[in-house]
Amino acid sequence: MALPGGIKHVEELAVEGKRVFVRVDYNVPLDKKTKQITDDARITATLPTLKHLIGRGARIVLGSHLGRPDGQVKPELSLEPVAARLAALLGQDVVLADEPTGDGAKKVVSDLRDGQIVMLENLRFDAREEANDEDFARTLASYCDVYVNDAFGTAHRAHASTAGMVKFVAEAGAGYVMAKEIEVLSRLLGNVERPYVAVLGGAKVSDKIEVLDALLGKVNSIVIGGAMANTFLEAQGKSLGASKVERDKLPVARNFLRKASESKVTVHLPTDVVVAANLDDAEGSKAVSVDAIAADAMALDIGPVTLEAYRKVLAAARTVFWNGPMGVFEKPRFAAGTVGIARALAENKLALTVVGGGDSAAAIAQAGLADKVTHVSTGGGASLEFVQGLDLPGIAALRPGK
Ligand code: ADP
Ligand code: MG
Repeated sequence: MALPGGIKHVEELAVEGKRVFVRVDYNVPLDKKTKQITDDARITATLPTLKHLIGRGARIVLGSHLGRPDGQVKPELSLEPVAARLAALLGQDVVLADEPTGDGAKKVVSDLRDGQIVMLENLRFDAREEANDEDFARTLASYCDVYVNDAFGTAHRAHASTAGMVKFVAEAGAGYVMAKEIEVLSRLLGNVERPYVAVLGGAKVSDKIEVLDALLGKVNSIVIGGAMANTFLEAQGKSLGASKVERDKLPVARNFLRKASESKVTVHLPTDVVVAANLDDAEGSKAVSVDAIAADAMALDIGPVTLEAYRKVLAAARTVFWNGPMGVFEKPRFAAGTVGIARALAENKLALTVVGGGDSAAAIAQAGLADKVTHVSTGGGASLEFVQGLDLPGIAALRPGK
């Protein structure tokens, strides 16, 4: 049960009759028109932690953000639908305070009985949350005796509720979601079984260059796909036609390829791609060599030859970290590369297989393979920072003697 760095698991905390602040990540997608929650996975993910605390007779104070209100009270970003959904899932009342802090919040917290739950209003309605303001942090801390963080998705942010308040609370620990993330992701930083292969794809080299650089010191090979591969291919002198390419990142891409070869890390790039004139080109999509991309064609997925080569690399791997789809997987015609990579991870039963990133997690869920890999991280940016070996403020704050 012991977590790296001496971080306590929620099961190790004495919570009976105590007020326990739980930082959750209820930043759920809402339908623009109806304001209904379109996916409640972030709420259901916290149920083990909440049920544990309810069972122990804790008095639970929930804190979360929703969207980007930027310090303003935005009624459309109220946590009201979230509190209602949580109440339905738990079959018990969830009282929503009408503000993040203040007299109303203080009152609902002081009225709490053992096993009951209150939720503070969207913490980002107050600009002091993201500013990690000390007074705001102290006020949040005054609402509890014990602090639990179960919001891995915001652990890379040093905000009042994720980091600042923790030093003002006597006891702190990780909820089930956070504990699992720390446990599995830490294995990627330790003595991993080799070969360790990183699969990187998605939209932009500029989003991921820090991860790529950091992975050079850890992995044996890097497999690249998605729009990101286009920039690398163009850096190698290929003509990418009308594909998405970050022209201003060509020197960065070249520099990275040079560093990789110096570090003896093999970089795999596509040898064929699926092209089309546009995303909705039903008839025109076809696989071509990366040396034969027409001037008006866009590369929108890795091709079958590339997929086969990548699947071989992944079959031999004993540790895999995957971030970023291989193509425009949202469109079935350009999803084969991404689904193929998802399958390769699912089929490799000998490897530790970890998927991080919002779109990558959506892609593996869409392929129905999320439960066939070791771990699908609930954090996009947070998982990328973690695998780089960076110390996330929300995790650092949980370490004893912080
Ligand atoms: P993640 O959220 O997993 O970190 P990213 O946000 O970096 O992934 O990238 C996902 C996006 O990249 C998807 O919307 C996908 O459509 C897009 N994408 C992938 N390959 C291509 C491509 N060849 N051309 C244009 N867009 C692409
Ligand atoms: Mg994304």
